[in-house]
Amino acid sequence: MSMLVVTPERGVSRPSGETLADHLQGFEGPLAQIRERLVDDPAGIVYSPPVEMNLPLPWHRGRVMVLGDVAHTAVPHLTQGAAMAIEDAVVLADEVTRDRHVVESLRAVEQLRHPPAVTAGFVANTIASALFDLLNRQHGLPSSGACRRVAA
Ligand SMILES: Cc1cc2nc3c(=O)[nH]c(=O)nc-3n(C[C@H](O)[C@H](O)[C@H](O)COP(=O)(O)OP(=O)(O)OC[C@H]3O[C@@H](n4cnc5c(N)ncnc54)[C@H](O)[C@@H]3O)c2cc1C
Repeated sequence: MSMLVVTPERGVSRPSGETLADHLQGFEGPLAQIRERLVDDPAGIVYSPPVEMNLPLPWHRGRVMVLGDVAHTAVPHLTQGAAMAIEDAVVLADEVTRDRHVVESLRAVEQLRHPPAVTAGFVANTIASALFDLLNRQHGLPSSGACRRVAA
């Protein structure tokens, strides 16, 4: 499970399991179980800055294609990554059942899926940057350059 909790932090330092668990005080159900595991199993915490990556075309080599997060990873603020991966799969299934060479179908998938992936990444990054800037201003922190773009 992935969870996004935005809190103001000074500097970049890995918070302890106890600090993260404090942010989840008051939640019940599965979140309460996660809160306990943050303390019991801190090695299981993945701590990293939000990263955006958009692989330039082609997304295929021969008959092998990458889709979903491997081809386009946006920061989670648009909450569309899983939906985009599922859409990729639906379009792929549709295109490869057409009566033509498989590589032509893979090219068609790229033409259909690359533009929305770029748009989703841009919108997600814009939301994330605005949110982080707002939080930083509210808490008197310097602008952090919230999201890291990974050149593919
Ligand atoms: C904090 C956070 C919150 C998010 N919130 C949302 C949301 O609300 N809505 C939404 O739509 N999206 C959300 N996302 C994005 C979403 O989780 C991803 O975009 C989506 O899971 C991508 O699906 P995928 O199948 O491409 O990749 P993944 O879900 O990463 O699946 C890849 C799978 O491959 C496996 N794997 C990796 N290497 C190997 C290997 N060598 N051999 C075998 N298996 C391997 C991995 O274990 C994994 O199970 C969020 C992401 C984050 C980080």
